[in-house]
Amino acid sequence: MKNGRCGLCKKDGILHNSHLVPKAVYKLVRDPKSQGGSSPLKVDTSLRKAGRTDKQVTAHFLCGACEIKFSKFGETPASKLWGNFFDFPMLDLLIRQGPSAHHQRRAIYATADVPINIVDSLYYFALSVVWRAAVWPTTFAKVNSCKGAMLPPVLTAIEEFLLDPKGRVSDIFMVVDVNTHKALNGIFSFPARIKAAEVEGFQFDLLGFRFMVFLGPVFPSEIQLLMHSFDRDILFTTSNHMDSSATKQIAKYLYENDID
Ligand SMILES: [Zn+2]
Repeated sequence: MKNGRCGLCKKDGILHNSHLVPKAVYKLVRDPKSQGGSSPLKVDTSLRKAGRTDKQVTAHFLCGACEIKFSKFGETPASKLWGNFFDFPMLDLLIRQGPSAHHQRRAIYATADVPINIVDSLYYFALSVVWRAAVWPTTFAKVNSCKGAMLPPVLTAIEEFLLDPKGRVSDIFMVVDVNTHKALNGIFSFPARIKAAEVEGFQFDLLGFRFMVFLGPVFPSEIQLLMHSFDRDILFTTSNHMDSSATKQIAKYLYENDID
């Protein structure tokens, strides 16, 4: 711990050694002890690199009160939904609910039918991770691509929400894509900027979830169509992450480099 100004509430005081990605994730992505308990498999989708690492990205960044908020509103409830080697509560929940539509290779679920506490906690959690990436005080690989990607009005709106979560942040559209391919749940990637024309956003993978956070106010027509069709600012989908092009690249890399 050391003294400084908290990155979120901007108050001076004792700063914790904060994690960019919650510490609990590293434990869960580690192989079970029966399989050797190897280090987590980290993937950098934008650099198309993968490897095993125990490196946890930390910095003296947040005060205790803000750490408690991140845990209470995001990490603690979200962690009950993450996939591991044995269970995947969020996938089970969506399968029980059943899809309401299909779009390309994804099944889409009615957000209104997902329990509101689950919607709220995943929304808060994803925003807390991408916000951290956008303002992280130290440099770290591709997380750097996120820096400066949020304009001041968006940044302020997200910070106000993280301090006092009520309603939704305007001009943000989020897709929570849940992986149906269980063997891939051990992969995680640090947040990186989505490289696509006409859209600004961030993406990260974590324990069976792929979070995609798009920043408005102007969205490309494909996203506008989704927003209007489903009338929501957060959409739940399932897909086999093995079929996504980023994952195929990673699988190829693992195979060529003899990483099992
Ligand atoms: Zn604070």
